[in-house]
Amino acid sequence: MTLTTTHELPAFIGGDKTNLIGGQWLPATSGNTIDVINPATGGALGTIAAGDAADVDRAVKAARTAFEGEWSRWTPHERRKLLLRVHDVILENFDELAMIETLDMGAPLSRTQGLREWTSQVLQFFASQTGAGTVAAPPNSLPGHILTLRSLRPVGVVGGIIPWNGPLIGLWWIFGPALATGCTAVLKPAEDASLSVLRVAELMTEAGVPPGVINVVTGYGKDVGAALAEHDGVDRIAFTGSVGTAQTIVRASAGNLKRLQMELGGKSPDIVFADADLDKAVPGAAMGVYTNSGQVCVAGTRILVQRPIHDEFVERIAEFTQTIRVGDGLDPDTQLGPLISGRQLDRVLRYIEIGSGEAELMAGGRRPEGEGSGGFFIEPTVFAGATNDMTIAQEEIFGPVATVIPFDTEAEAIHLANATPYGLAGGLWTENVGRAHRVSQAIDAGTVWVNCYGILDPAIGFGGTKMSGYGWKGARDHVESYLYPKAVYMNI
Ligand code: NAD
Repeated sequence: MTLTTTHELPAFIGGDKTNLIGGQWLPATSGNTIDVINPATGGALGTIAAGDAADVDRAVKAARTAFEGEWSRWTPHERRKLLLRVHDVILENFDELAMIETLDMGAPLSRTQGLREWTSQVLQFFASQTGAGTVAAPPNSLPGHILTLRSLRPVGVVGGIIPWNGPLIGLWWIFGPALATGCTAVLKPAEDASLSVLRVAELMTEAGVPPGVINVVTGYGKDVGAALAEHDGVDRIAFTGSVGTAQTIVRASAGNLKRLQMELGGKSPDIVFADADLDKAVPGAAMGVYTNSGQVCVAGTRILVQRPIHDEFVERIAEFTQTIRVGDGLDPDTQLGPLISGRQLDRVLRYIEIGSGEAELMAGGRRPEGEGSGGFFIEPTVFAGATNDMTIAQEEIFGPVATVIPFDTEAEAIHLANATPYGLAGGLWTENVGRAHRVSQAIDAGTVWVNCYGILDPAIGFGGTKMSGYGWKGARDHVESYLYPKAVYMNI
């Protein structure tokens, strides 16, 4: 456990933050605020606006006005240049953004600074997609001289709702396709982590994004999120979060039949076959669970291990787990920061208690020694001797908790991997190419990693199946989901 020494904080930290609506920074109509808490210390870092339906209504109207105004006449080339300007401004300020994210949600600087290259890729990818709506004149089978034109038109105002576990990633999945396609957006970040989103919005404005094209309304889900889901002026909701909230949004959005994108949770399997290279599989599978203190939707939390190597694997992952440094994210030696909040810490501790009753605790399971900083720290934790039907193997914990489950045959591994309501991701470790092909196809999940875990290319993208939701982030599919097809038949 390492504690922070003194750091110079970005000037953006502190004070009362407001919402970006139609190019203006405005406090919540109600005047209410929410304290911003540094999860590494429990200390306050200022406030954000506690918006509500009135602020959402203003933001949606501003987004509609922008959508129908000058922005609709921007050419694909102009939008591409804008995205590249945003790219440059964001990258110039990335050290500051990384520090804001670390202070606001706890992830170590090594992780938040590590997002620099990914951010560059994601912005360049969306910049390359601005021609997606281009008109084409495909040949047709109609008699006479009918000219058919097919184009893709922007769907309109997009409401984005994102969680706290990676705002600097989540926001680009909304703003990127919106700017690429000519949509406008109202983004609601999580009440526990809004600061980096607000700073990015400020920088985007400086980069020349016109008023109303992007808007940010902070506040609680039951107020801001629910109002966005219901608002008839919103054409599409892009949601990332939990299954329960997604179900509420699906119901709330029925009024005007919004298009929906749902990126939800997971309980992803990571299968270690007896022929795996354990020098890679042990740290790879462990960090597949622990990265970002386990607060990752694709975390490979169910580690299925083939019986001949099971005991050796358990011993090695327990040893590896004990070497991981937990501490304040500002410390360069920190590998895992705190959990986001006291609420999340209680939730993870509750699952550890349940796990201790159903399986064998091999490492971790406690708050780190030296605790007393007021932060929400927890040791990375491994359970072994588990079966797939246990609570810790079925429910998403969203903390650094790995559950090791033994298996005998490839068929059993596939059966166990798919014995979950979720279908977000999965992994496998093997030196056998045939098995890599067979098993990666057989796992029911949107993304499967072989001999690696958690890497993501925006041009390939990712998404889920089953209760992990629908819609694809990244790749052309994502861009096209911000567009609707239109056919024009011309008798000329
Ligand atoms: P959550 O569902 O509680 O909150 C997500 C967002 O929804 C927050 O901004 C919240 O304020 C808002 N919200 C809450 N109630 C709402 C309502 N009634 N109407 C509209 N919005 C509302 O999720 P969380 O606990 O903050 O995030 C963790 C979850 O997100 C996990 O399940 C995780 O797996 C998932 N996640 C998925 C992905 C993915 O891409 N698949 C990525 C990251 C996180």
